Amino acid sequence: MHVGIGDIRKSKGLAKSFDWDGPYKLEGIDLEGPLKLDLKVTNAGSRVMVTGPLKTAVRIPCTRCSEDIVYPLEVDLEEEFLPIHSEEAMTRAKDLLDGTFTFENDKVVLDELLRQEIEAAFPIQALCTENCRGLCEQCGTNLNRETCQCGPEEGDSRWAALQDLKAGTSVPKPAKKPKK
Ligand SMILES: [Zn+2]
Ligand SMILES: [Zn+2]
Repeated sequence: MHVGIGDIRKSKGLAKSFDWDGPYKLEGIDLEGPLKLDLKVTNAGSRVMVTGPLKTAVRIPCTRCSEDIVYPLEVDLEEEFLPIHSEEAMTRAKDLLDGTFTFENDKVVLDELLRQEIEAAFPIQALCTENCRGLCEQCGTNLNRETCQCGPEEGDSRWAALQDLKAGTSVPKPAKKPKK
């Protein structure tokens, strides 16, 4: 996806809008439903600014049970694109600064910006439901759908603590006498 900027390159301050409302494929991201952009592309002299809201939804796995969920997200874009052979772009490339976007041939290509912004908006934890029970750690059964016969693992300290609590023996046990 790109925006032609030949028309606004003529002088500083010129701007145009760029809208998109429909399906779009971004490599590496599972977009679910339409991508909506309502962008303003501005000639800011030495650079081109791209600003405005991005709305879409992504398909990602639940953190606990790995079932796919659809996660809607909204990001406000505000990014600058430098002319690819400009001194500033060259310097930044040399300094290996991340996140420098460039354009050439009067065309601002948006895909990489969109991908980065969407990925940055992914939640750290996404649950299919608030009470998702996740997968059994031993057999992998999805505990939201069925139960399994796995008991707690031997020597699981959390279980041991629970047992102690149930038995009312949560007081520390006396240390064993050393064997002779
Ligand atoms: Zn889940
Ligand atoms: Zn199990």
